[in-house]
Formats: sequence, structure tokens, C-alpha cells
Amino acid sequence: MTCFREQIVRLKAYEPGRQPPGKLVKLNANENPYPPAPGVLEALARLGPDDVRLYPDAAARLLCARAAKAFGVTPAQVVAGNGSDDILTMIVRSFLDPGDRIAVVDPTYTLYETLASIQGATTTVHPLGPAWSLPVSFFGAAAKVTFLPNPNAQTGTLFSQRELDRLCANARGMVVIDEAYAPFADVTAVPLLRRHGNLIILRTLSKSHSLAGLRVGFGIGRAEVIAGMQKVKDSYNVSVAGQGAACAALDAAAYTSRTIAALVKTRTWFCRELDARGWLTVPSSANFVLTEPPAPGAAALMALLERDGYLVRYFSTHRLRSMLRISMGTDTQMRGLLACIDRRCSRSPIITRSRKGWRPQ
Ligand code: PMP
Repeated sequence: MTCFREQIVRLKAYEPGRQPPGKLVKLNANENPYPPAPGVLEALARLGPDDVRLYPDAAARLLCARAAKAFGVTPAQVVAGNGSDDILTMIVRSFLDPGDRIAVVDPTYTLYETLASIQGATTTVHPLGPAWSLPVSFFGAAAKVTFLPNPNAQTGTLFSQRELDRLCANARGMVVIDEAYAPFADVTAVPLLRRHGNLIILRTLSKSHSLAGLRVGFGIGRAEVIAGMQKVKDSYNVSVAGQGAACAALDAAAYTSRTIAALVKTRTWFCRELDARGWLTVPSSANFVLTEPPAPGAAALMALLERDGYLVRYFSTHRLRSMLRISMGTDTQMRGLLACIDRRCSRSPIITRSRKGWRPQ
């Protein structure tokens, strides 16, 4: 006999991007194609037996101090996590009781809804409007926590700081601005913390700093909010390796800027290539693009590209099922992908559609 909570029996588990073994070019999980900064691998190489034998610093003090400097806040305003997903878990544990509500947009990162539902909370979904804009209903939504990635997940579109300011001012609970992709747009909501005590900002080193495998992310907020979240976190949530590597990654600011600039350049070039082939691509401020291919269509093309050795992401949900989400790789990887696309895809029909009339709804 099993005794799972009713909530868990009914739960639809979150499906992460696949990590199959083998030599596929991974353009499906928004990982960074460039290696981490050299100092990261050196920090890992320096790990000794005691680093492995003993528990890490539970509060990750050195790392939080280092991150605070990078984000322009005080160490008491930062909590470190086993990836930013871990910070999301702290947030739902801290703020959601069974029966509470969260507000999200659609499309967005679906883990918010999954984590809320584990807590027994329900989700109000506010569909994005024309050109993936924030709907009026989202401002002041009756929700204990409002989650919004900026740039948005799946679409890559950027919301203005003014909109975020308004969101925080009108919210009836906490507002979480998830900045997983913000380094690629060179934006941050950190200055809004001075005006809004209900704001929590998420950052991750997975994408911008090539550290996805080590799992390090941060929650940033007012000191009293962060202190509350520290109470619910798993004790030793960031490993010794993760803490050391993350400090080294944050120290390598020049290296990080160079790799981010390279990815942004690749994104601009790749979007132009897709345009030339008649694909309908949503303007992106992230390290991925959401784009609508012509025949044979998104789902079939994803399977064909996988046979050619390229993994891209397909979502079968209502608003995304005609589209593919493609992470930016190196130029060589993207050229390889385009060669496969040219073999597998018809080049013309979509061009006959009115580009002007097309709304990336
Ligand atoms: N937020 C968003 C919007 C994401 O796309 C991701 C990556 N799937 C995360 C958070 C989690 O990133 P990580 O746990 O690797 O920090």
C-alpha cells in the first residue's frame, strides 16, 4: 500500500529537457556551449580529500559575499541554492499554504506551477497578449506569489523595468522576477528592491556562466525576506564543489562578458539565417530563440534533426506546438544545424505568408 498525498498522486511532474547519453549537439536546455572560465576548472582541480569528506558551509558565506558584490547588494540580501530551481522550492515552502494561489503567464517556465501544486496551491494562468505582451489581468492578480521570468522562458521576450515596477506596486503578495536569462539582455530588477519589499529576484550561473552541471543559483531580496527563506532551505544545499566553482566563475567577469557577447552575436546572425529561410522567429533577448519552421512542421522536424545529431526543444502545448525552441550553440554548431535544416526542411512556402500580418501571438 502506498500513502502518497492526494496532491502527489494527481501531480503532473515537470519534464526537464532531455539529457540523453551520446554525442548529440544539445540545443534543447539553454545550456552554454562554451566551457566555464579557466578558474572554475582550476578551483575544482584544487579540491582535496577534506573538501569531499566534510560538509560544505551551510550558509555558503564566501559565495554569498562574492555574489552580493557582483549583484550590487549586501551579503544578507543573498541566499544561494542548488540551482535557481532550489530557490524556487524555498519560495513555495516559505509563502504558500494549501489553497493559496500563484499567478503566472502563459507560456512560461512550467516548474512554477508544478512546485506550487506540490504545496497544494493553485495556479491562475494569465495568457500573454499580442506579441507576447503582459495582459492587464496579471497586474494586481489575486495571488500570494506572482512569478515572471525576464526575459520570459520559451519566448525569450523582454518586459520593461517599468512593467516590473508596476507589477510589484500592484501585487497583493510576493513577486518573483526570474532572471535566468537576464545576463543575455544585460538587465536586472535589482534597483527595484529599493522600492519594493515584496520583490525576490532569481539568478543562476547555469546559463550565463556555463555551470549548469554544478547547480548554483541565487535568491536576492530584502534582508528580512532572505532571512525567512534561509529557514526553509535544505541545510547543505550547495556542495563544496559548487561553492568553489561559483566563486571562481563570478571572479571571471571579463571571460563571462566575452562568452555572453559571442552568444548574442550568434543569436543575431542565426535569426537572420532563419528569416532568410522564411521561418517566423520571435525577437529574443535570451540565449535561445522560439521559431516557427515551415513544412514538415515543428514536431516532425525535431525528430529529423535528432536523427542528424541535433537536439532542439519541442513543446506540445496549445500556443507552442507549431514552434521549436533552439538554444544558441557555437557558430560551428549552428552552421551544422542550418545545414541539416536545409536538407530536412522546405525553404519557401512560409515566405508567402504575410510577415507583416504575422503576430507572434
Ligand atoms: N528559471 C528559468 C526561467 C529556467 O528556464 C531555468 C532552467 N530550466 C531555471 C529557472 C532553473 O535553472 P537552474 O536551476 O539551473 O538555476
